[in-house]
Amino acid sequence: LLRPDGSIAATVFAEMSALAARTGSINLGQGFPDEDGPLEVLDAAREAIAAGRNQYPPGRGTPELLAAIARHQRRFYGLDVDPATQILVTAGATEALAASILALTEPGDEIVTFEPYYDAYAGLVALSGATLVTVPLRWPDFAPDPDELRAAVSDRTRIILVNDPHNPTGTTFDAATRDLIVELAHRHDAVILTDEVYEHLTFSEPHIPLSTLPGAGERTITVSSAGKTFNTTGWKIGWLVAPAALVSAILTVKQYLTYVSGSPFQPAIARGLDLPDSAFDRIASDLRQKRDVLTRGLQVAGFDVSVPAGSYFTVVDVGPLGFDDAEHFCAELPALAGVVGVPVTAFASTRHRSSYRSLVRFAFCKRLEVLEEASARLAAID
Ligand code: PMP
Ligand code: GLN
Repeated sequence: LLRPDGSIAATVFAEMSALAARTGSINLGQGFPDEDGPLEVLDAAREAIAAGRNQYPPGRGTPELLAAIARHQRRFYGLDVDPATQILVTAGATEALAASILALTEPGDEIVTFEPYYDAYAGLVALSGATLVTVPLRWPDFAPDPDELRAAVSDRTRIILVNDPHNPTGTTFDAATRDLIVELAHRHDAVILTDEVYEHLTFSEPHIPLSTLPGAGERTITVSSAGKTFNTTGWKIGWLVAPAALVSAILTVKQYLTYVSGSPFQPAIARGLDLPDSAFDRIASDLRQKRDVLTRGLQVAGFDVSVPAGSYFTVVDVGPLGFDDAEHFCAELPALAGVVGVPVTAFASTRHRSSYRSLVRFAFCKRLEVLEEASARLAAID
């Protein structure tokens, strides 16, 4: 995080979006949708503002959002959650992750996660003073090696930090990996912090939360974000679901981070979570179509493509196009094709960075015509 001169690097997303704006390129770098989500959700926010819901909401979240999250957990996963004690609404998933890590770790504790990882993980772990221990996910299927996972978790591990569906690879974890995570958390008395912000963005199997596994609920914090499901990344409404004692500890930290946020957006997201199953099916099937258009376009352009099972990202190998360094490729790409992507090394530790040297992440949460234009531009690289 620290540059040699002592300054702190901007996040790769700020850098890549600035590059796209400066060069007029199609931005497949930072993952944010380029169109609005369900109208009901937008209308509900307008109504809440008009109704004067513009002051601080309650610390744990507004009653209707807490109740809607509990209904959502029951409807999709069969989980019974007490809205009064087992849910905390946060300023995006980011604050849920930050408050959990700060509440539960001391300097010297270890946090085990998989890499490449969403870039905020390394930043948040650094802020807490804990130590990040990583298990590499390898091209092209990005499934962890069970022995490497076993070797990473020890009695020093305070948190196993999981992200499923996974950013940046788009992989989803299989049953054996999920079982092993729960088994290791029990054996070493670790908490499972599971970032499931892409829970509704899956393309083959429905999402299975880790907390539904036998013995997992008592030690699992599940994080999600309305930004991903309803195309409202700028509203920063996230939440976590966990046992009451963990929620209390995390609330103690959260109250000094933001206290509360997003008053009129909370009832709007409650409206979204109560939409019928067909609306959630459409969100996933629209995105699946976008995945298919971009992954096919990337294949036609000559990349090796890892087709994702979830999230809104796909990873490609630029080797077949004659490049071996994705950082160099991404720096050249605006001039080569008028497109921006993110080198996967931006999501890697120095230890494993070389494994991801030729890989680039592209986001496909963009309109179909934008994905088709990006594909055509990439196919024209010579
Ligand atoms: N976790 C992952 C895996 C993400 O991809 C993102 C969004 N970039 C976040 C957390 C942050 O979510 P939010 O914007 O709700 O803070
Ligand atoms: N989650 C999005 C991504 O991975 C963007 C996050 C951000 O801009 N901080 O691209």
